[in-house]
Amino acid sequence: DGEIEFDNVNFSYDGRTTALHGVSFKVPKGSSVALVGESGSGKSTILRLLYRFYDLGEGEGRILIDGQDIRDVTQKSLRQAIGVVPQDSVLFNASIGYNIGYGKFGSSAEEIEAAARSAQMHERILSFSEGYETKVGERGVRLSGGEKQRVAIARTLLKNPPILLLDEATSALDTSTEKDIQKALQNLVRGRSSLSIAHRLSTIASADVILVLKDGQIVEAGSHKELVALD
Ligand code: ADP
Ligand code: ADP
Repeated sequence: DGEIEFDNVNFSYDGRTTALHGVSFKVPKGSSVALVGESGSGKSTILRLLYRFYDLGEGEGRILIDGQDIRDVTQKSLRQAIGVVPQDSVLFNASIGYNIGYGKFGSSAEEIEAAARSAQMHERILSFSEGYETKVGERGVRLSGGEKQRVAIARTLLKNPPILLLDEATSALDTSTEKDIQKALQNLVRGRSSLSIAHRLSTIASADVILVLKDGQIVEAGSHKELVALD
């Protein structure tokens, strides 16, 4: 499972201007699709519709996961199937462990943290300078954008969803952080279907399919090789 299909999707936020127009594409199970295009071209809207932050109107096309219209899927199972790594997460004023594990295990902060820690996977992902016990909101301790992304990646790994939505940070991370995060993301993407808002050339080049958006429409689609050959 994990196949995504957009079937002739139209969407408007305000009923007047078009955010997406006639968008159709498939993400086959286990493959990676990169969305590229200028700001305002509709990339985030595609991710928001798939996660049902917004719903499609009747007759405005269909979005399917494994052949099933996502409007017929409960929010709960949709959220179990889809992991989101946003550009900039908002974290609770709690420890990193709590932020990774909340909603997943137990109910007390101690239970959640212990479970996240015993899951061990964070070892591969997290090399927080302040250590795993760091309180996110503690005075004087602030996580960088890169560290926040690592929290989101670890959280998503624990959830182990077949589908990933990635919003790549545009902010300049330092080179070693960037490399760490790229490695963590590669681990995360492997074997899953992914849809990424891609900014880094390496992400774009390594995607199975690139969709180029302009004014809410797909204007080019193909592998990196195919698109380069068009130029
Ligand atoms: P991108 O992610 O490629 O920058 P978006 O999907 O965010 O583009 O935006 C597509 C279009 O929808 C743009 O014209 C944008 O102004 C509009 N839009 C995006 N979010 C909203 C919103 N919350 N309310 C109204 N219009 C929006
Ligand atoms: P999870 O799927 O990990 O259980 P949530 O369903 O609460 O967690 O949210 C998934 C991610 O999507 C969170 O990291 C959250 O920051 C992000 N998110 C929530 N609302 C929005 C939004 N309106 N736009 C973009 N990202 C959002």
